[in-house]
Amino acid sequence: MGKCRFYEVCPIYTGILQDQEMSAKAFKTQFCEADFDSCKRYAVRIRGYLVPKKLLPSSRMSVDEIVEKYKCPKG
Ligand code: SF4
Repeated sequence: MGKCRFYEVCPIYTGILQDQEMSAKAFKTQFCEADFDSCKRYAVRIRGYLVPKKLLPSSRMSVDEIVEKYKCPKG
């Protein structure tokens, strides 16, 4: 499937989880470099919203719930 198109600007990919190196690596392997369609950050972004910095790819919330909870602006 290739790499997620947002990897260069995504804080998950670029290092926000420095203190959780194993999680960061797992997310990259599972989502960023493989199944990015299943990433909740990706889903929020392609719907046209700015993604909360700390939202995890594996969030169980729906996009609508995330947008409402974090008051995500369009961007
Ligand atoms: S965390 Fe999600 S949005 Fe960010 S680079 Fe990985 S797959 Fe893409």
